[in-house]
Amino acid sequence: MTLARYACDPALSRGRRFAEVAAPTRTDYQRDRDRIVHSSAFRRLVYKTQVFLNHEGDLFRTRLTHSLEVAQLGRSVARTLGLNEDLVEAIALAHDLGHTPFGHAGQDALNDCMAEYGGFEHNLQSLRVVDELEERYPDFNGLNLTFETREGILKHCSVANALVLEANEPGGVARRFLPSATPDAVRLQPSLEAQLCNLADEIAYNAHDIDDGVRSGLITLEQLCEVELFETFRRQALAQHSKLGDAAQSRRLLYDTIRRMLSAQVYDVIAATQDALAQAAPSNATQARQAGPLLCFGADMRRQSSLLKRFLHQNLYRHPQVVQTTGQAKQRVRDLFALFLHDPQTLQAGFAARVQALQATDTIGRARVVSDYIAGMTDRYATHEHERLIGTSTSVAQV
Ligand code: MG
Repeated sequence: MTLARYACDPALSRGRRFAEVAAPTRTDYQRDRDRIVHSSAFRRLVYKTQVFLNHEGDLFRTRLTHSLEVAQLGRSVARTLGLNEDLVEAIALAHDLGHTPFGHAGQDALNDCMAEYGGFEHNLQSLRVVDELEERYPDFNGLNLTFETREGILKHCSVANALVLEANEPGGVARRFLPSATPDAVRLQPSLEAQLCNLADEIAYNAHDIDDGVRSGLITLEQLCEVELFETFRRQALAQHSKLGDAAQSRRLLYDTIRRMLSAQVYDVIAATQDALAQAAPSNATQARQAGPLLCFGADMRRQSSLLKRFLHQNLYRHPQVVQTTGQAKQRVRDLFALFLHDPQTLQAGFAARVQALQATDTIGRARVVSDYIAGMTDRYATHEHERLIGTSTSVAQV
């Protein structure tokens, strides 16, 4: 792989929190990716969902397939731009590790439950998974990933949480979320590889939520014709293959449209980013971080992508049927949280031991253990645990 001068070079990595001997055949970013793939949190992604719950159908995206799609899109752009594909892959595969069960609903519910105890942020939780929660190595908690992978995982962070991270790791991954000393300073960006993963994430879910939305019957091809980005490529597909106009071919028409949309967005990102790079002319990865966001859509594609996102919010994520199932999911999270906080003996042994090690008065610490436990659950495990511990008829939260 030929790296551009603005790419992250593993030989110049800021390294791991705990020093380790280099691997004989793999770079540090390859090693990060491999550690992520072998982690327990990664395997759980297969039973975690974003929009549709895991039991609703076998063909809907899960967090695992979503992460693979983000990695695929990210790598193909990285290769063209001369960015580090291994780092992109590591960040993409890890970016959703901290997600709760039950998608956005579970996350909102857990954040509400944690309101008095420091809140819940899924990006920060992904970092907690790779920094603290995986228990696989004799000498340290977590996966001991490189700075660059961890920086990419921490996509957003509140100032309050950034202050806590900064206290433990001065000048580390949270520094760029703290208010700058000079008001006109350009906010430090993460590496171009991390910026790419953010955009690949958006491209991937916009596309696969259309697919899953139509498959579920919650949105129709007719509705999608209002969306400029979709309609442009639907017409293009029909112009090239008139047989796709038959009702029986509607699924092929959908796929061909989505494929064209994906390609157009990828080419747009490549062209817009090449322009931005030519303007900023960073001569290394550090200068690229200082140059403001460089990995970007062109202005028109940014506008069209935002319109598509708005359409999905209005017609899919807030669809009454989605809202109904997510309402039940939120209740499960609230019930489990209340039970575990009140009676830590009901936690799984390892988490119960963590609570035991805390001062009895440390409610914030106890809430964080409960939050870690619930966030790690898959949709189906959370459902089983709710049934086993609480049952469907009584709700602890209402007691
Ligand atoms: Mg994602």
